[in-house]
Amino acid sequence: MPQTLQPRAVDPALHILQKTYGFDAFRGTQGQVIEHVTAGGHAFVLMPTGGGKSLCYQIPSLLRAGVGIVISPLIALMQNQVDALKELGIRAAAINSSMTGGSIASTKDAMLRGLIDLVYVAPERLLMDDFLALLDEVPVALFAIDEAHCVSQWGHDFRPHYKQLSLLAQRYPQIPRIALTATADAPTRQDIIDCLQLQEGRAFIAGFDRPNIHYSIASKDNARAQVLRFIKDNHAEDSGIVYCLSRKLVEETADWLCAEGFNALPYHAGLPADKRTDNQQRFLKEEKIIMVATIAFGMGIDKPDVRFVAHMTIPKNIEAYYQETGRAGRDGLPANALMIYGAQDAAMQRNFIEESNAPPAQKRIEHQKLNALLGLCETVGCRRQVILDYFGDHATPCGNCDTCQTPPETFDGTIAAQKALSVVYRTEQRFGIGYLTDVLIGKTDERMQRFGHDKLSTFGIGADLGKAEWQAVFRQLIAFNLLAAEVEHGGLRLTDQGMAFLREKKSLRLRKADKRQTKSTTGRRSAAVDFTGDESLLRALKETRMELARAQNVPPYVIFHDKTLHDMATVKPDTMALMAAIHGVGYSKLEKYGAVFLKVVAQHLKD
Ligand code: ADP
Ligand code: ZN
Repeated sequence: MPQTLQPRAVDPALHILQKTYGFDAFRGTQGQVIEHVTAGGHAFVLMPTGGGKSLCYQIPSLLRAGVGIVISPLIALMQNQVDALKELGIRAAAINSSMTGGSIASTKDAMLRGLIDLVYVAPERLLMDDFLALLDEVPVALFAIDEAHCVSQWGHDFRPHYKQLSLLAQRYPQIPRIALTATADAPTRQDIIDCLQLQEGRAFIAGFDRPNIHYSIASKDNARAQVLRFIKDNHAEDSGIVYCLSRKLVEETADWLCAEGFNALPYHAGLPADKRTDNQQRFLKEEKIIMVATIAFGMGIDKPDVRFVAHMTIPKNIEAYYQETGRAGRDGLPANALMIYGAQDAAMQRNFIEESNAPPAQKRIEHQKLNALLGLCETVGCRRQVILDYFGDHATPCGNCDTCQTPPETFDGTIAAQKALSVVYRTEQRFGIGYLTDVLIGKTDERMQRFGHDKLSTFGIGADLGKAEWQAVFRQLIAFNLLAAEVEHGGLRLTDQGMAFLREKKSLRLRKADKRQTKSTTGRRSAAVDFTGDESLLRALKETRMELARAQNVPPYVIFHDKTLHDMATVKPDTMALMAAIHGVGYSKLEKYGAVFLKVVAQHLKD
């Protein structure tokens, strides 16, 4: 009897991934999460920024009956998400206070008639009586709680309305709840699981690594010159974020970058709300924009093609650093993170901690977290290893950070450390790095004579090293917690460990003062460098994308991601079938844009 070939059963989730999104395969735990939630399970999903959390609730919403309700804290960004879904041919809408009554009513009507797949709402909206009443009428596929760390007072972004989402478990116990976050620490995780009652669900914890981000930390020489060289060398044609510590510095830095010929925009909480929204939209919708911002900028920004994040000063701690740098390279293409690090910045961060209203126990934790960050700045090992270790992930040296690529030179710093610590001790533990260095190298002034420090036995004992070298020594002694900076004046004192170091005559290896700082400070792995396709075709494709985006008033990446255009400029498709095989080209986009982009390729091949 002839055997008939059975068609292979197609996994419906994979089918959607390929046909609707135009992607080949699931990443990491995506496939498992989708299977679990589609089958009706609750889930807690921890994935790094750019890991692909959205698909984890979008695909189950499409596969299950009813509408998927997505709770998201940022009204300003909902529309972009909805636009991106519509481009994929997914029926999505947002309901929020920025919309007219008429458009809200028509969305509600579509929900009742089963004509919509996904609805984005802020928690405030969801909790309103009339919205809950609507949900009682409409079949709901699932509740997705995005940025779920907002439920926790431990988290860095607590929102009281998020806490009230505990109501979902009581009111709709049978509907799957999926909580998603990129925030790591254990108490926050526990709060999310308790508040949303996910104990019976599954937790999907992905590793934290962002392998496409190159990390680089340079000691401060001239922060502006360093950042300028970094941008010019690597990112002259890119979008990026420059973080500054204060509103004033944001304004000044943005003006300065504009004067240097870049398109830089400021963003901080002191700007009027409409200006903030405006600048944010420009950052999303235009190309080659540098956003100069305080930490007020960034949450929920899902612009995939941010190519660099530069910190003009050190961030608050490793969590903050990872979250801020994590905004680069969400599309998986190479991206760069540069931090400029100076000892004064550390003293300033200590001040912030002391001046805050936090209880003493909390302040101690914050100081420890800051110490861990300083340890990262001074490490002679792989940066990524230190970061991942901090989050409890283990890794081998990565080859994609500054210390892996140019291992810092070290020297036996035992004697230098002893000298530095003794000078601190002899001058009664109240002076800052600059003064202490002068005593060490034997440079006297009126003040020193007044204190009689030029008569100390330690005066001039460090003439073998220069000023920059002593500063590096002091920074490391602070990072290793042998010295502590006094909060008020930045004066240094010995810690218990510092005392023990002197008493027990311990030895210590130190990093040599960073000579590379005057050279370029990155691994020069920008996306453009990795691209091996046709440069001029890529430019033409980008132009077409920009025209389409402008006409529809959406960000260019909503039309196609850079990765898609890179793929096109490499493969140079000349049929619709080849176009359909390009990364990120699904049914809907093929139909809408396939022909337009084929024409660009054909024109280019003819020229
Ligand atoms: P997150 O919310 O976790 O930060 P997103 O859901 O925004 O991440 O996804 C990050 C980027 O990765 C998006 O540009 C998305 O289109 C892309 N992406 C997600 N899943 C896949 C996949 N399986 N294959 C290819 N690209 C993906
Ligand atoms: Zn490394």
